[in-house]
Amino acid sequence: MAYVDEIMESVLARNPGEPEFHQAVREVLGSIAPVIAKHEADYRENKILERIVEPERSISFRVPWVDDHGKVHVNRGYRVQFNSTLGPYKGGLRFHPTVNRSVINFLGFEQIFKNSLTGLSIGGGKGGSDFNPKGKSDREIMGFCQAFMSELFRYIGAREDVPAGDIGVGAREVGFLYGAYKKLTKQFDGALTGKGLEWGGSLVRTEATGYGAVYITQEMLKAHGEEIKGKTICVSGSGNVATYAVQKAQQLGAKVVTVSDSDGYVYDENGINVDVLKEIKEVRRARIKEYAQEVPGAKYYEDGNVWEVPCEIAMPCATQNELDEESAKILVANGCKNVTEGANMPSTEGATEVFLESGVRFLPGKAANAGGVAVSALEMSQNAVQLYRSFDDLDAQLNEIMKGIYKKISEAAADYDLEGNFVAGANIAGFRRVVKAMRAMGYV
Ligand code: NDP
Repeated sequence: MAYVDEIMESVLARNPGEPEFHQAVREVLGSIAPVIAKHEADYRENKILERIVEPERSISFRVPWVDDHGKVHVNRGYRVQFNSTLGPYKGGLRFHPTVNRSVINFLGFEQIFKNSLTGLSIGGGKGGSDFNPKGKSDREIMGFCQAFMSELFRYIGAREDVPAGDIGVGAREVGFLYGAYKKLTKQFDGALTGKGLEWGGSLVRTEATGYGAVYITQEMLKAHGEEIKGKTICVSGSGNVATYAVQKAQQLGAKVVTVSDSDGYVYDENGINVDVLKEIKEVRRARIKEYAQEVPGAKYYEDGNVWEVPCEIAMPCATQNELDEESAKILVANGCKNVTEGANMPSTEGATEVFLESGVRFLPGKAANAGGVAVSALEMSQNAVQLYRSFDDLDAQLNEIMKGIYKKISEAAADYDLEGNFVAGANIAGFRRVVKAMRAMGYV
């Protein structure tokens, strides 16, 4: 049996009921197959794949908290410390009812290769809880964050494991989490990123993932003799990643015509008004349908499929598996030539295949959304030296990092005669760096 098939079988057997994790491993193993074929004897002997699919440490814990009516709730918290070969574990915390071991393992596994692609010193980790922040008061959010951190603090630290935000964990939650961490450990250090600017945060962190996804898209278009200016873009989601992808794309002269949430999408033929979007989502924490009530000419489609809107560039920025094979076919039929994944694994395996077979230029999440974690690493370095850099300086470095990622993934794909296959390129380039370091450090 081929080495990758053996590993896939053992992942399925040892992690039953974890479809998202299986999907992520299958995708990575599938696309690094040519690398493995070239080094099979060495990898087998050193159990490279066996080690890379097994987290170094995986924690799950009980999180009891009390709501505003005095009722007690119990959620489950997770932290997977997947791989620290390149640096401290780094990866966000997600608070969403769909969070389970499979989702955390998939995200933690992806994070290893994403973090590797940035070229910075960060290993892969991820965490979160099945807690649903929607509709909770600030007091309840604070109570939950404190309860969550009262266990997590034992496992994290500025040189050990540095969580950040993700779905459901934004500036407010990071604040409550950091306050609890500081109280429990007596340390004011960089053990969390995404902090407020007044207390150790970094400029550009808020914008980084969305901006980075646009910068790498711009770089890819440039490499093909095109520019982003004048292009029509469909974005899904209306959270952190989506908002700043919309903002940067429009600053560069593109027109973004959609944003969405899990209830429906908004179409604005004049281009999404970012100020209104931010007011609704960041200030009022309201639903996206309010956009259409406030902006003349905008339309809201309850339960609609955002990918039915014709565009030249699609940017899924909401959540995993939000763009399926059927939607991919619709996008291609409508003339979409570029897809940039702002979210983690938003395209299903079927959708990815449609894009690759149709010649769509497809930038996978682990390359395209790496700007967030890259600026998180820059936040860590600023915390370490207690010196803070300007917006323009950090923004310019983010742009350089994204250009570097584009170069690495293009070259890695070309090394294996897979020009233009950025999925393979991202996995190969990310994997090669981690493996080189793992080989240097022995069996640990
Ligand atoms: P937010 O919580 O800020 O926003 C998530 C957005 O996605 C919301 O608009 C939400 O709508 C929507 N959404 C969530 N679930 C669904 C669903 N099932 N169907 C449709 N829409 C949905 O999260 P982020 O913007 O931070 O993260 C978005 C994605 O980007 C995630 O995959 C995350 O892992 C990834 N990412 C984020 C980074 C960051 O720096 N923030 C870094 C790298 C990757 P609703 O309110 O209805 O739930």
